[in-house]
Amino acid sequence: MNNEFPGPRSVPSDARRSSQATSDTRRPRATGVAGAYIFFAALYFVQSVGDPTSGLIAQPVRSLLRSWGESPAALGALMALLAVPWTIKPIFGLGSPVAADLLARYLPDARDPQIEVFAPGSYPFGFYDPAIGWEQPLEATLTHEYTHLVMDRSFIPLGQVSGWMREGLAEYVAGIRHQDTLREIVRSGRIIPIIDTAAPALQKQDLQHFDTLDADPEQTYALAYALVAYITERHGGVDGFWKFAQAYDQRADLDLALQQAFGITYAQFDTDWRAWLKTTYA
Ligand SMILES: [Zn+2]
Repeated sequence: MNNEFPGPRSVPSDARRSSQATSDTRRPRATGVAGAYIFFAALYFVQSVGDPTSGLIAQPVRSLLRSWGESPAALGALMALLAVPWTIKPIFGLGSPVAADLLARYLPDARDPQIEVFAPGSYPFGFYDPAIGWEQPLEATLTHEYTHLVMDRSFIPLGQVSGWMREGLAEYVAGIRHQDTLREIVRSGRIIPIIDTAAPALQKQDLQHFDTLDADPEQTYALAYALVAYITERHGGVDGFWKFAQAYDQRADLDLALQQAFGITYAQFDTDWRAWLKTTYA
């Protein structure tokens, strides 16, 4: 982490790579005290008047994600406010129990998944850029974590979802497009392969081994986003991605899942994705 402020949509991704076993975190840098009280007042109000879980999560996930496609960030944030099993930890001035710049994190649990929200700007350290504020990073973070929760709940018990599918979908729904990073990756020709065919089984450095990948998380999350964006653009929108995720859950094999969902082999998919990357981020 350095002292540079991110642009409006380039919120840093989850800093932890092998986080899924215990929790999932995103760490935007911009936080501020102003507005935190208003946010929590609003949140408590929503909690007190809203019926927190009935109906919303019970909706078919497919139509839920389709509706997100209309206005992903706005709807996602609204859904998050209304439907998430919340734990709110406003620890003003005492310091975060987890990390200095943590806004929220997802705690996966088959029976009791939760999203933990930390009060923005409630810590004496961290950075605040008035041009960015804390609303947008918080909205992106909540949408990202909430997507994890919905995805986990749609595969019970937890499915065979690969790390890039999980994080890529969350970034896609949150509207974090990683444009600068993807341009840099394409320009430098350093595209991390989806499947590393060269290395031995336990040393593979590829997106299929997302959680153990030894690479800059900003780059791995950007590529995960790009894979999901590519699938939605060329293979039937978010419905197409969902069809593929379900096929992968059943087949536990990328090549078989791509054939089942889209009628193409992994080799063809990989070639097409790389070509799309080069035209999209040239
Ligand atoms: Zn995540």
